[in-house]
Amino acid sequence: MDTAARHIYKAIRCKTAGCGTVLPMHYGGPVGSPGLLLAIPTGWSFQCSRCRQTHRYLAAELFDLVLPTPPPTGFVSMFEGRPLSKSTDLKN
Ligand SMILES: [Zn+2]
Repeated sequence: MDTAARHIYKAIRCKTAGCGTVLPMHYGGPVGSPGLLLAIPTGWSFQCSRCRQTHRYLAAELFDLVLPTPPPTGFVSMFEGRPLSKSTDLKN
């Protein structure tokens, strides 16, 4: 058994040359938790916490990130998520 919990994120990488900070956008829970159905917009703007530059990001630029730590207090996911269920109903 792996005693160190691992946590799943969706992240983007800052587009500022020389920065490249990995910026978690969404917290998906500990590894092994059920996936979430995410409402990811086509594009959004985000300000880097390190270089303070704001860039435009696309859903295709998200990547999976696994970290040993849960998100810090106050972390707010950029995307709405809800648990996947077998009886998925996708009405608005
Ligand atoms: Zn940056």
